[in-house]
Amino acid sequence: MAGQDRQTAVVDAVEKQLLIGGKWRSATEGKTFDVTDPATEKTLCSIADASTADGLAALEAAHAAQPSWAATAPRERGEILRRAYQLLVDRADDLALLMTLEMGKPLAEARGEVLYAAEFFRWFAEEAVRIDGGYATAPSGTGRFLVLRQPVGPCLLITPWNFPMAMGTRKMGPAIAAGCTMVIKPAEQTPLSMLALAGILEEAGLPDGVLNVVTTSDPGAVCEPILRDGRARKVSFTGSTPVGKILLQQSADKVLRTSMELGGNAPFLVFDDADIDAAIEGAMVAKTRNIGQACTAANRFYVQRGVAEEFARKLAERMGALKVGPGVEDGVAIGPLIDTDAIEKVGTLVSDAVSRGAKVLTGGAANEGAGHFYQPTVLTEVAPESRMASEEIFGPIAPISVFDTEDEAIAAANDTEFGLVSYLFTQDLNRSLRVTERLDTGMVGLNTGLVSNPAAPFGGVKQSGLGREGGRVGIEEFLETKYVAIAEP
Ligand code: NAP
Repeated sequence: MAGQDRQTAVVDAVEKQLLIGGKWRSATEGKTFDVTDPATEKTLCSIADASTADGLAALEAAHAAQPSWAATAPRERGEILRRAYQLLVDRADDLALLMTLEMGKPLAEARGEVLYAAEFFRWFAEEAVRIDGGYATAPSGTGRFLVLRQPVGPCLLITPWNFPMAMGTRKMGPAIAAGCTMVIKPAEQTPLSMLALAGILEEAGLPDGVLNVVTTSDPGAVCEPILRDGRARKVSFTGSTPVGKILLQQSADKVLRTSMELGGNAPFLVFDDADIDAAIEGAMVAKTRNIGQACTAANRFYVQRGVAEEFARKLAERMGALKVGPGVEDGVAIGPLIDTDAIEKVGTLVSDAVSRGAKVLTGGAANEGAGHFYQPTVLTEVAPESRMASEEIFGPIAPISVFDTEDEAIAAANDTEFGLVSYLFTQDLNRSLRVTERLDTGMVGLNTGLVSNPAAPFGGVKQSGLGREGGRVGIEEFLETKYVAIAEP
């Protein structure tokens, strides 16, 4: 376990102020808010609490830096990202500890997130030099077409607390590669990872004003004026669907480009012909990663009747054996949920399911004492009208229902307004393809419980979002297309 001195040192090492135009400075009137460790409920530190005026100052800085940044050589933009990638890798242990302290996830997972976050910088360092265009003869044979790709312009990036670094680099990487400047607003509960990341980008040589960071306890007061101002050209948001809808409405006024990575309600389908042990491994990743607090978390398990009892029993054995405790302790697999609201919500969803007939195979309650700990829980016979069938659980709860036919499983999987990811376990090739094509989600995990990869296009359909992050398409979200009509030469 990391000692108290080292914990204090990693928190002390982070700037606690706003980054605006290359200067670290306090918020208007010197306001601050506290950052808390969810495992101990103790305050870690206080940081600057930006106002509307601070947000607009950050936008002004991003707007002022935009022309020179857009004119910077793509190779130079890529090299900055590459240096930042290396710094993240070199400092992964300290950054992981910082993340665990503010967010709660076990240290090994936090380290995994730092490396995953770094990979977005490496990937987009490589993409920066591959922005291309086109030249063509008009179909009539007279005249030519020239197509240019240019940066969208200043962007507002808003990130959630559950992956406090990776959700940032997944946006900042392509924005930097494309030549966009940005204002970033990290989640109130986990600003330290983003502040550390901003320090690393400074060190890597990112020019003043390209990245501006505003931490705030009043996100609406800071973000809405930026969206309505007219100088920002894009908003990229990762967070809940309700907040995404508010931002889409606010963006309509100035017709901003929008990228929305929103909530999920992932179905996890296990057919009789699946490799059950592989399905259990997949379920453990899809359910317990990030303490179940992932947009990609398996939210509903549908298991075919022939293997339902075996799957539930094995999953309950594995989940019931997980060590619950502060993420900084050795061997912990399930850290605290982010706050008391999260504990209450999970408790309410479990009680609701049980009141409708669900059986508890393991877990089913919060732990007593400090910290927001909820026991890994497996429920069977979960009724379709249970709240957890339609709401994001965001906790280590696995609700299992049984199905008989392929059509029944697909209908249940698609019966949600969300469409981020689904998981499918079967060894039948034809079934794999048939079911994959009919699942109404932006991503499918086929015999795997983990889909995230910086080199792949991440994103959802329906109310899970608009646009994709990562992969070859990730940079497109930060580029405009300009067509030049040329007279016959
Ligand atoms: P959230 O409440 O929507 O918050 C996300 C971010 O939006 C935070 O920075 C938050 O600031 C900010 N925000 C809240 N209200 C705002 C407003 N009126 N104007 C501007 N910004 C505002 O979501 P969360 O609880 O942090 O994150 C969990 C959600 O994110 C889940 O639904 C999860 O599925 C989703 N998620 C999706 C993906 C994906 O890729 N699809 C990835 C990760 C998470 P404060 O922190 O100050 O509230």
